[in-house]
Amino acid sequence: MVTETTKSGFYEMLEARGVSRRSFMKLCGSLAVAAGLSELAAPRVAQAIENSVIGVESGALYPVIWIEGASCTGCTESFAQADAPDPATVVLDMISLNYCETLSAAAGWSMEEAKAQTIEAGNYILVYEGAVLEGWNGEALRVADHPGTHHLAEAAANANAVLAVGSCAVNGGWVAAHPNPSNALGVQQYLKKQGIDTPVINIPGCPVNPEWIEAVLVDAILVGNLPELNGENKPAVMFNQTVHDNCERRGHFENGEFVYAFGTEEEAKNYCLYPMGCRGPQTKSNCGIVRWNHRRSWCVESGGPCIGCCTANPNNPGENWVETNTPFRARFRDLRIGGLTVQPEAIAWTVTGVLAAALIIHGFGMKKTGRTKGGADFEKIREWDAKHPEESIGKYDDDVLKGGN
Ligand code: SF4
Ligand code: SF4
Repeated sequence: MVTETTKSGFYEMLEARGVSRRSFMKLCGSLAVAAGLSELAAPRVAQAIENSVIGVESGALYPVIWIEGASCTGCTESFAQADAPDPATVVLDMISLNYCETLSAAAGWSMEEAKAQTIEAGNYILVYEGAVLEGWNGEALRVADHPGTHHLAEAAANANAVLAVGSCAVNGGWVAAHPNPSNALGVQQYLKKQGIDTPVINIPGCPVNPEWIEAVLVDAILVGNLPELNGENKPAVMFNQTVHDNCERRGHFENGEFVYAFGTEEEAKNYCLYPMGCRGPQTKSNCGIVRWNHRRSWCVESGGPCIGCCTANPNNPGENWVETNTPFRARFRDLRIGGLTVQPEAIAWTVTGVLAAALIIHGFGMKKTGRTKGGADFEKIREWDAKHPEESIGKYDDDVLKGGN
């Protein structure tokens, strides 16, 4: 039962933290959208948060353990940059962050003790950031006198759910890129090998968007659901559409208006960044909707091509997003969709026909072009450009166009 005292206490608490009702409702709207609801559901989300009054009076905070695997801590940093509610509000009032190497004030054995007690009591969520290191029997990441793999398995086995946060946690990310000396892998794959069947929610990104974490926490903790997941155990509403689907430059893509070099008129006109290496067409994520830095902007809007950081596939460790997408500023080869091979400029001519349907229905099969197998070199020049140097849409030195390097 939520009393008026509780409600006003809740808003007083927000105000004391410099969060106005207006900005709180704005946050609830964005969390609703991130959780796959309409922005009109903001009052429901607000009510759910208020109803819990997040344990302030009942003392029933939802326990969370945040374990740092092999990572740069960028996802913690990203989460800590969420400014509404500020991370302190999330950490202190919505959850009880009983263990976090980076954000907890305590350290050492008292922290380990707090973690052990939380695990024993059960009914908590485990957030795991970074890759799992199996190398040298897990000794590649040794913490508190145990291998890192021990900490993950122990905390995951008794958790209600595991949030694998960031692309390193999803399938190894940077840490697992060739030659992968520490035998890094993703959380889901590791837990499967250990026979631990706790549900895993994969939230990719490099770093993860803090609103994705907050939306899943709101779903899981306050509304009482785990979000609907797609075949890669990623929240479907966040990761079922491509970046390209929601990109403000999409009209330029379809008109064949591209940026071929930075510092040009085309760049100033915000034309499509596909020739500059944009991976938006094959990257599934709602970045263009959720955006970053309190919804101020996002990668493509700020002028940088999408580098495909959300393409980590937990079902296929070979689809390592770093290996698949580097070099980031280089264009993929011709697009292949089933039996069709197309080039960027052809899109403008044919996009209204069969090809458009193929593009939309199947998405782009660009990363299936085989360029990553065996670490093949990125092509120096597109075959079509080499044959038609006078009409080349790429920018190459003359000697490259003539067949040199
Ligand atoms: S290729 Fe990239 S920049 Fe162009 S429309 Fe798609 S996502 Fe936007
Ligand atoms: S737009 Fe692309 S590079 Fe940027 S965060 Fe989204 S998936 Fe990652």
